[in-house]
Amino acid sequence: MVKGLLLLSGGLDSTLAGRILLDLGIEVEAVNFTSPFCRCTPKAFGCSAARAAAERLGIPVRVLAKGEDYLELVKRPKHGRGSGMNPCLDCRIYAFRKAGKLMNETGADFIATGEVLGQRPMSQRRDAIRLIERESGLEGRVVRPLSAKLLPPSLPEQQGLIDRERLLAIQGRSRKTQMRIAEERDIRDYPCPAGGCLLTDPEFAARLHELLEREPEFDLADAKLLSVGRHFRLPGGTKCAIGRNEEENAKLEHSVGRPHCCLVPTEIPGPTALLLGSPESPDREHAARLIAYHLREKAACVAVGIANPDGDGIPETSKVYSPATEEEVEAWRISARPVGKIPRNDGLRAVLIHAMREHFGTDSRRIAHAERVLELAEAIQAREGGSLSVVIAAAILHDIGILEAERKHGSNAGIYQEMEGPPIARRFLRDMDISAVEADHVYAIIANHHTARNIDTLEFRILWDADRIRNIEEDR
Ligand code: SF4
Repeated sequence: MVKGLLLLSGGLDSTLAGRILLDLGIEVEAVNFTSPFCRCTPKAFGCSAARAAAERLGIPVRVLAKGEDYLELVKRPKHGRGSGMNPCLDCRIYAFRKAGKLMNETGADFIATGEVLGQRPMSQRRDAIRLIERESGLEGRVVRPLSAKLLPPSLPEQQGLIDRERLLAIQGRSRKTQMRIAEERDIRDYPCPAGGCLLTDPEFAARLHELLEREPEFDLADAKLLSVGRHFRLPGGTKCAIGRNEEENAKLEHSVGRPHCCLVPTEIPGPTALLLGSPESPDREHAARLIAYHLREKAACVAVGIANPDGDGIPETSKVYSPATEEEVEAWRISARPVGKIPRNDGLRAVLIHAMREHFGTDSRRIAHAERVLELAEAIQAREGGSLSVVIAAAILHDIGILEAERKHGSNAGIYQEMEGPPIARRFLRDMDISAVEADHVYAIIANHHTARNIDTLEFRILWDADRIRNIEEDR
């Protein structure tokens, strides 16, 4: 019997892919990957949505945890990142390699996925699909039942193991077709599309980015902590997480034992503070004041102790701590949206245009070029999606290195613009309401904006297309 190994997330697309294969009389086994960046809620070990979907399909599922090797590629992805910290191409290559190994071990004939052409900007484009298959060593061995008819026939289709005519030709972001077919095939109770893992979430991405910059050797346990509590970088450089509820307090307390310590209020109920460092850290006082700030019932001061593994506070000193001020809390908070900066997008747009005009002075041709590219890029972004902040900043600043290129190198060649642009853009974006992750994305686009082969994100593609259209207009 022909056998396929299905990459099953538990969502609509992969469940539907499994149903289609089963209806073709193919034996299907599933594999599900978990990571510290999943949004799913594991009831036991593994992803509950994938387990439920496998049960409904009546197929076995194995759960594989992405390990430290996965964390390495998150830290240093070969193929770049999407709009957050998501290294989607490397992530898919990783999963395909692991699945390919399992395919050989289980005697499956092919890998199957619920991928839909054009659904995700980074990993489900035609060129990305080819690249992922090639780099994972699975060329021709991946069947995508939902979009198969739009793609070259896979080996199992060529060999007649699968009837290509009974596969589908779905593409794009809308899930209406899948929902209609799911209804016809009696697939119900699937979870809503989650829109990517936590690495695509701006707040989470900001925390991860900050950790990568400050503590590049962090491990999986540190990564898991990123989704627990509110996160702060204290004035002495120590990281601190404050629990938002009892469940989070317990999680923070259970991570003690590593070189961390937990502070808890000893006389009144309140949040736990995990201080990622020694209890003797000079930031201990700042952490205690954060506890005082986050008490549900406001108090003028609070006594704290070090939590033992059972979560009880052992008072160590008679000292009490007053709450941190609003300004301190916002200054210490690790966030994608720093408070006190100009409002997002509109403010960003206006201030950057002003700065760009000043930079180019009387050079009205370059100013007009940047403004027209911005107009085109915004129109494309409205249709295609992607981060508006990144698109706006990249469009306004893409040629910002040109004067410096001419001054230093006597040439405005693309290579010199790519070299000189990012440091200037960095100065322009320093006080803007744009997250560190988005700003890095903008610098990366400017550093490559004359190199088509480096286009790796939706926002870069938008800037590229807008710039090209403007160049054609200017050439007329
Ligand atoms: S969204 Fe997350 S899990 Fe999905 S491919 Fe991208 S990095 Fe991997």
